[in-house]
Amino acid sequence: MRPVDKQQLILYAAQVQAFNGTALDAPLGMVECVGMTNTLFNRAREKGYWHGAYTPPVQYSTQAKLGGECIGRAVWYTEQPEGSFLVLAPEGKRGWIIAHEVAHLLLMAGRPKHALFEGHGKEYAAVYIWAVSALFGIKWSNRLKRAFAEARVEAVCSLQED
Ligand SMILES: [Zn+2]
Repeated sequence: MRPVDKQQLILYAAQVQAFNGTALDAPLGMVECVGMTNTLFNRAREKGYWHGAYTPPVQYSTQAKLGGECIGRAVWYTEQPEGSFLVLAPEGKRGWIIAHEVAHLLLMAGRPKHALFEGHGKEYAAVYIWAVSALFGIKWSNRLKRAFAEARVEAVCSLQED
């Protein structure tokens, strides 16, 4: 089990506050999930935020947990022999969760394996805000920013919002 840090729980609560019950919370089909993921990686590549030669494929799990790596409603993996890939648990097939998970992969891009960084820290929050803006527009990233501000989740704004 990974230790759950306090920052992670605060960020989780803030994103639920921002997106729960909204259009971004609607359950999606697998084709839509793959489309959103590809769109997001393409936007990131255009911006220079993703240098990978490929877009990590999306897999769908029928289980809520995989290999003890369950992170809430979605699961993501990197550093597998075949490269990075994103695994979505049943409850993870929602727009805002895809933005959340892809933001993790973007944050890890170009870093040494096992580099130490805060999984849900300031840099992560900024990448997540960008991912929401790139996929859904500024109205939605502003909504997330407001929820972060209310919950005192800090974001280092290193990425230009779309
Ligand atoms: Zn996360």
